[in-house]
Amino acid sequence: MSTKATMIRSIEPDENEVPARKEHRSATTAGWIEVIAGSMFSGKSEELIRRLRRARIARQRIQVFKPEIDSRFSDNHIVSHSEIKHESANVRTAAEIRARVEANTEVVGIDEGQFFDNELIGVANELAERGVRVIIAGLDQDYTGKPWEPMPQLLAIAEYITKTHAICVKCGQPANYSQRIFESEERVAVGAAGMYEARCRQCFVPHADAPTIHPD
Ligand code: ADP
Ligand code: ZN
Repeated sequence: MSTKATMIRSIEPDENEVPARKEHRSATTAGWIEVIAGSMFSGKSEELIRRLRRARIARQRIQVFKPEIDSRFSDNHIVSHSEIKHESANVRTAAEIRARVEANTEVVGIDEGQFFDNELIGVANELAERGVRVIIAGLDQDYTGKPWEPMPQLLAIAEYITKTHAICVKCGQPANYSQRIFESEERVAVGAAGMYEARCRQCFVPHADAPTIHPD
């Protein structure tokens, strides 16, 4: 896509769009929490990066964090499966995010929220209360279909929620599940294409014991 087409697309109004922040916020202006949740390959990182780019165009001060565990594609960028990137800092804990957000930061982006500890809930609330727009993307379920903390709690406290869907690789329906296609019973087994597949409810095999095989 040309640069011009990209720019035009990026300034179009969008159904998921939330109100723009006022440029000069006072100490009493509250922020808010946005959560982008869905299966693997559903476009969570793409959507997070899209929002961050728009905030950048609006000259807002941005900080982006991802958990150190996820260094699949880059150490200092969040990278989507379609290879769209945005600069980010690696952190190990939610407390580290709290410590690293600067006083004048207006937008905080966090990718792979499911890899953080439950303190992320309090950190997101604190940042929003002091006027920050907090955008968190993450897997809402693990490979067995179990809700993945702290995403359920973040979905509960968020002002805005976007559920993203991939395309089921078996039947083409919207996919809500991440099917593990290799042998491991670890909840966290970081991987990408070839290790997980997007599947719909009908095609997902929800056994806790990997590997899972399509039932036909
Ligand atoms: P997520 O962060 O939810 O894992 P990404 O934003 O990293 O998703 O990647 C989304 C991209 O993944 C899509 O734009 C597409 O290029 C690619 N992709 C690969 N497999 C699928 C699939 N089954 N359904 C949809 N997109 C897919
Ligand atoms: Zn399907």
